Amino acid sequence: MTQKDIFLRLQKEPIINSHSHHLQDKDHQILNLENLLSNSYVNWCAKSIPSKSSSKDEITKFLNAVRNRSYFVWLEKALMSLYSIDEHLDADNWDVYDQAIRKAHEDENWHLKILHDKCNYEAVFLDAFWKPGDNNNHPVIFRPAYRINSIFYGYNMEAKDHNGNNFQVEQNQSITDICEYIELIDKAIREKKQAGCTTLKCALAYDRPLSFEAGTKEKAQKAMKENADENDIKAFQDYVFHKICKIAAELSMPVQIHTGLGLMSGSSAMELQPLISRNPETTFWLMHGSYPWTSDIAGLTHAYPNVWADLCWLPLISPTAAQSLMHELIDVCNADRLVWGCDTWTSEESYGARLAFLEVLSQVLYERIEKGMMCERDAIRYAKGIMHDNAASMNLF
Ligand SMILES: [Zn+2]
Repeated sequence: MTQKDIFLRLQKEPIINSHSHHLQDKDHQILNLENLLSNSYVNWCAKSIPSKSSSKDEITKFLNAVRNRSYFVWLEKALMSLYSIDEHLDADNWDVYDQAIRKAHEDENWHLKILHDKCNYEAVFLDAFWKPGDNNNHPVIFRPAYRINSIFYGYNMEAKDHNGNNFQVEQNQSITDICEYIELIDKAIREKKQAGCTTLKCALAYDRPLSFEAGTKEKAQKAMKENADENDIKAFQDYVFHKICKIAAELSMPVQIHTGLGLMSGSSAMELQPLISRNPETTFWLMHGSYPWTSDIAGLTHAYPNVWADLCWLPLISPTAAQSLMHELIDVCNADRLVWGCDTWTSEESYGARLAFLEVLSQVLYERIEKGMMCERDAIRYAKGIMHDNAASMNLF
């Protein structure tokens, strides 16, 4: 089996996609090349996306700056494949790409057809940060993750998470007692689980360091009084996370935590070690390979059987880092504790993320087979585990 054979073999397999921010229907219907790039990680490359009024020179300058970055490479591959375009994107064929995207989305179901038919997704865990716990009105394909960030900002009515949400405001409550607050969290998470939420998703690495102490009720209470300071708020968030981990364990909901990148200060996965060791009954899906501290993930999966590697986004950030981590994980982590997700906003980029993931996976498996460290049958079983079977084994939906 060549690497290409393995890739083609895996392309046919169904996927349970652990993480996505797939936009609502209305947002897909207005997609053109500019919107598509704006809603992709290419927009994270610190260069303005060319608009209708950009000159060919400006487009060329933009493309020369971003075209080797992994984010662009895989999105371009996806567009070339989905829209049957042979030429790489440049200033002269910019309109060809633009027209192809617009035309395809005249079919309002095109974005869903890509997910179903091209990506072969059986289910997609949706982190709708604009409406935590939502399924975009497509309950079969989208299984909501419940984004819990706002819960960490409910110590008063004014605080907001980085998406502008406050848990007390969302819940239409005005609580100043920490015990009542914890009861409200418990009730809300149970309701979300009842409504179909599969996992809890924490993206606090964009807001604060990931080192969480156990905290106490008394210290947490201080944040709910006037004149609370930074330390009181940290103590509140520490205590709240401790309680959320207990609730998640009881409800058998994995806690997905963004690790790596984000603030970059205190966002490596190893910062979570105390939280993980205090909560052996809670299943943690540590996301994004903790890039660039990828070995943190491998070390934690080795030490803690309740830690899973959620490889979402990583092959898109850097296939090089993803290959290296995947080799390490095959060495040190049981085969049944890995999942993958696209972590994208559009179907086109999701398709690109999937291409990057399958490329990484097939390359790593090919190398292991070549070296006599894995047989073909085990390699395929391993891949099917990450793509589908491991997530399915959790009976989350
Ligand atoms: Zn995400």
